[in-house]
This record gives sequence, C-alpha cells and structure tokens, in this order.
Amino acid sequence: MVEQQRFAPTPTPETQHFWDGCRLGELRLQRCEACGHIRFPPQAFCPRCGSEATEVVAASGRGRLASYVIANRPLPGWHAPYVIALVALDEGPRLLTNLVDCEPRAAALPVGMPVEVRFEERSDSVSVPVFAPVEPDAEPDAEPGAELDADQATPPFVVDDRPLPEVAPPRPRNRGAVAIVGAAETTELGTIPSLTPLGLHTDAARNALADAGLTAADIDGVACAGVSPLEVAFRLGITPTWVDGTAVGGCSFMLHVRHAVAAIEAGLATTVLITHGESGRSGVGGPPGRRRNELMEQFELPYGVAGPPTLFTLPALAWMHRYGITEEQLASVAVAQRAWASRQPRALRRDLLTVDEVLDSPMIAWPFRRHMCCLVTDGGGALVLRAAERASDHPAPPVYIWGTGEGIDAPMVSQMADLTSSRAFRVAGRRALAEAGISTDEVDHLMAYDAFAHTPCYALEALGFTGPGESAAFVAEGHTAPGGSLPMNTNGGGLSYTHTGMYGMFAIQESVRQLRGTSAAQVDGVDISVAHGVGGMFAASGTLVLGRSRP
Ligand code: ZN
Repeated sequence: MVEQQRFAPTPTPETQHFWDGCRLGELRLQRCEACGHIRFPPQAFCPRCGSEATEVVAASGRGRLASYVIANRPLPGWHAPYVIALVALDEGPRLLTNLVDCEPRAAALPVGMPVEVRFEERSDSVSVPVFAPVEPDAEPDAEPGAELDADQATPPFVVDDRPLPEVAPPRPRNRGAVAIVGAAETTELGTIPSLTPLGLHTDAARNALADAGLTAADIDGVACAGVSPLEVAFRLGITPTWVDGTAVGGCSFMLHVRHAVAAIEAGLATTVLITHGESGRSGVGGPPGRRRNELMEQFELPYGVAGPPTLFTLPALAWMHRYGITEEQLASVAVAQRAWASRQPRALRRDLLTVDEVLDSPMIAWPFRRHMCCLVTDGGGALVLRAAERASDHPAPPVYIWGTGEGIDAPMVSQMADLTSSRAFRVAGRRALAEAGISTDEVDHLMAYDAFAHTPCYALEALGFTGPGESAAFVAEGHTAPGGSLPMNTNGGGLSYTHTGMYGMFAIQESVRQLRGTSAAQVDGVDISVAHGVGGMFAASGTLVLGRSRP
C-alpha cells in the first residue's frame, strides 16, 4: 500500500513519455536513431551525437542491482529500514529506485542480483518504477544471489566510458604566479546562533583581511558561493572590478581560487577576496535558496531519499563490492581523522575513536553509521589572493598556488559516469598535478574533502595516491593518520572538525596552516599540500596544489 506522503513527481514536456509509460506498466527509454545510444534521463536530443532523431522504446524492465543503501532514519511516508537502490538496466542506463518485495538486509541483497520492474502508484496520474528481486528458478530456499556466476556478480558500474579530456601541457608562467596572502576562518566555529550566512561571510572576510594586513579598500575582486558576491561586496563596501559566483557545491572555493588565479594573471583584478559562510546547524536566516533541480525531483526524490546521507553514500557499495573493501576499512577513515582532530582545539569532536565504536554508532544508511557521516555546523572562512610579486608585503608567509583543476560529472549521483571512481575527481586532480608539474610522491600533506568516509578514499584513488580499490586499506594501515606517510585531513575533516554544508573552504584553510607551519596538528616539513574538494554528490570537483615556496 502506498502512503499519501510519498512524493509524486511532476512530468515535464521532455519526460511525459516516460511517465505515460509508467502509468501503462511500461518502462520507456529513448533510443537515438542516429547512433543507437539509449539514454536516461529523458531529453530531446542525444547527448552523445546531438541528433534529435529519437524513438521511444519499451525496456525489458530487467536489470541488476548495482549499488544501494538501507535507509534507517525516519522519513514521513516511509517505514525504515527501506532500500534505496541503483539498478543497471539490461539496456544500459542506470536508475535510482527502491527495491521492494525483499528483506531489507545486506545478506539478502547481493550486488549483481537480477531485478525486475514493478510500478507503484503515487497519485491518480503518476506511478513510479520500483524494482523487485527476480525469483530464482532453482531451489526456492537458496540464498539470494547464490546462483550468480562471477560475471553476473559484477554488474555494469559504468554508464559513460568516454575518455577524459586531454590534460593540457603545464603553463610554467602560471605556476606560483599567484599566492594566498590572507587566510582565516570565522571567529567561532560550531554553533553560532548570532550570525546569518552573510554575517559569517563578512566575519571570515574581516579576519582574512586582518591576517593579510589589508582593508576592504584594497580588494577589487570578490568570489563566493551560497550568497551572491554582490551581497558580500556591498556589505564590506567593496567596489569590485571582477566577481565570481560559481556555485557547484562544497568545492566551489577551489574553483574560485582557480578562477582568481586566471583573473589576476589576466589583469581583471589585483587582489581577490574569496568568502564562505553557512548557518548549517542553526539555520539562521532560513534554509539556503536552492534552484529547482527538475531531474532530481522526478528521478531521485520520489524514492525516500533524505539528502546527502542517502544519496552521497549510494555509490559506495559498488566500490566496496568491486574491490572487496570491508566495513571495518571504511570505518578506519573516521578513526584516523579523529586522531588528528584530537590535536585540534577548534574541532567539534575530539575524543579518540576505535573501529568498533564507529561500527557500533547509530546506523544512518547501511553501510554508513553516524561516525562515517559529516558533522553539521555553522561557520565560514575566507582567503585573500594576490600576484606573487606582491606576496611578501604581508604579515604571514605567502602560500603559492602551483596548480589548479576543476571537473564536473552528473547533477544526479545516480548518473555518475562510474560508481566506483569519480570522473570529476580524475579530471580536476590530473589537471592540478599536471599544472603544478609534480607527481603524487612530492605531496607532503593532503586535504581530501570528507563528506562521508568513502569520499576521501575516492580522492586518494582518483588523484593516484593509491591504486584503484587500495585506498581504504591504505587508510586502515595508518598511512594517513598521525605518523603516517601521507598525513591527510589533519584538521579532523568534515567528520570531526566542522562541516557547514560546503566544507571545501576549511580544507584549504588547513592546507594554508600546514604550509605556514601554524596548524595545531602541525606536520614536519610540509612543502607541498594538496586540497581536493567535491561538490554535490560527486557532481563537481576542484583541486589545488599549494606550495610553501614559489616553484
Ligand atoms: Zn546519438
């Protein structure tokens, strides 16, 4: 029986054929008549070849379970636990959906399990596709999935295997041409009921300007996300000649740095202020304004998803399955980062953790427990950037920007090109390292955005610090913890330090502190630090290679 509160999607002209099909019990996909590519979600032309020649075909309704979480938190209209799944259709596309008519426990739901479509009525005019396990032909008592052979047990995890863009040759002129000359966080971190998001932006901005020995009158470029750069500029009394409001989620600040380097190099601005502030915990000033995401509303929200804990986590099981990664290894990420946080007086969570304590913490969405999920806090941070020639005019040692990269994948996690490796991370990371002209061996310190325990692991692999599937073991063996070969997330990360919603600014701040030698958990001999960020649910990425000296 379907409950009234469950979300009913609203068809759009481009998707009407899909929803008409669902009403009639048919899963309809679009096939390009020019190149044969079968596409999802629906759109008027082929994303591969551009052709508008399209036929609508009835899909078999069969597919295989590619990944899932077992949602375990109350949500109106839903009875936890329930399964939010990614299904790889036999025709190629991947859908986010629910698994129904099954026991919501991991042992009963092997990755690779054959599933078939059902339709669940949500309103008088809309039904949504859900999936159920295909009844095994063999012995009815057999454990589900027991009959899968090795090939079947590895479903397609990739929906887009087009080659990555070529990495442009490094431009030596740009290496280290711009420096961070001011960096600071908000005066308080954690719970700040007295400041709106804009107030947090300007608190951080004033701290960063003081750190740089500058005033607002020195600034002619402003970049920020969450609020508009015109609000920040107005409040601080700045008349900028260059603004950047790029907002692609938590890594937006890495992109602002990249864009600011280009702007300063091009003479569009001389001194750029980048700000961040969010009232993620207190919600002062109301929830942040979000543009409607028409695809997510139709193809993800109907399935009981409740924000990042059930969306960002969805690909992880595919990655764990493919490489044999254990829940204990995943838990070790939270353990290693808490060890760093224990040395950071400003970290929200500082008590040391064990793997067992992580695994015993409340289940959020299997396999993710509370300690594997980021904090929700208030706070902000800001940076001031200037050409390297002027970088020594400031009180604190400059931090030089050696290389930067940016990349995007899909606006819905269900459509990420490869569930087991972030395409956006690979594009951004490779570009930044190539621009800097360095290999991973030369990196002394890494900040890898950790919205959840698996996200820094995806970064370690995409940037080449470990091979594919080796990152979780690398962390579990202690290589990223205090005393390890690659100190990572030394502020404690989003899991233990702070996480306002868009955490990337805090990753950059800790890279700057380590390069200046001022971190509370200072690592010896940090000459090169990488700050790598994610935006949305693996939707976007930005990478910065930062150096203590000018290359
Ligand atoms: Zn085509």
